[in-house]
Amino acid sequence: MKMTQKIEIDVVTIFPEMFEAITKYGVLSRAIKNDIISFHAHNLRDYTKDKHKITDLYAYGGGPGMVMKPEPFFEFYDNYIKTRNKKPYVILTSPQGKTFDSNEAERLSKQKNLVFFCGRYEGIDERVMTLVDEEFSIGDFVVTGGELPSMIMIDAICRFVPGVVGDVESVKNDSFYNSLLDHPHYTKPREYRGLRVPEVLLSGNHEKIEEYRKRESIIRTIIKRPDLFIKHELNDFEKKVIVNIIRELILNEK
Ligand code: SAM
Repeated sequence: MKMTQKIEIDVVTIFPEMFEAITKYGVLSRAIKNDIISFHAHNLRDYTKDKHKITDLYAYGGGPGMVMKPEPFFEFYDNYIKTRNKKPYVILTSPQGKTFDSNEAERLSKQKNLVFFCGRYEGIDERVMTLVDEEFSIGDFVVTGGELPSMIMIDAICRFVPGVVGDVESVKNDSFYNSLLDHPHYTKPREYRGLRVPEVLLSGNHEKIEEYRKRESIIRTIIKRPDLFIKHELNDFEKKVIVNIIRELILNEK
């Protein structure tokens, strides 16, 4: 069954083939086939005007490394407006941008048309910033190009587009949604090398299972990411789970 297309994503890169990693495999490739996502990787060289299709040159002022030329990015931008009759919402991948996270992914999933500019070498000529709506980093480290950061962001954004992930509840239970980490998961066999699946998960008691999962989620977040837990607003159910954890701790000490 074909579904209505929900988001248009374009990337501008000198390595469009790299994006086969998301267009040919898994959930995103299915969403593209089902027209929920329209995806195009554009070769920056196609927007050059010289014989050699040059996209980078030495930096004014000297120094090591090449800089990506501004013209092909501007050409792409103008062409986009001309052919689609609308402005693109441009994301620049850059280690200097604000750090991308789950909240940003959910917010951007509501945009109709996103364009990612992928830098290489020393980065892109600063004048291209005049086309950019937002600048995002995937963390405080530097990778060799904007392709992997774009793919990571696109994947995380698309998971929030309705119809991409089969069960929306699974996205809502994932780590960081509601600023808690996900609970542990188990599948068959019930016992492997002496390691048993927690009894409660086999009980069929849905209330108990929900409480167990919430409890594990809270404990993991406190231990692994106290910074997240401090920001989290507890609901009544979570307060009850915490009271039970404390009660058990006190009883165990006696
Ligand atoms: N000279 C740049 C700087 O220090 O800010 C780094 C350039 S980096 C080698 C080349 C390209 O990789 C960047 O233009 C950007 O597109 C991408 N990139 C590198 N690290 C990134 C990160 N942490 N997040 C997002 N994009 C990144």
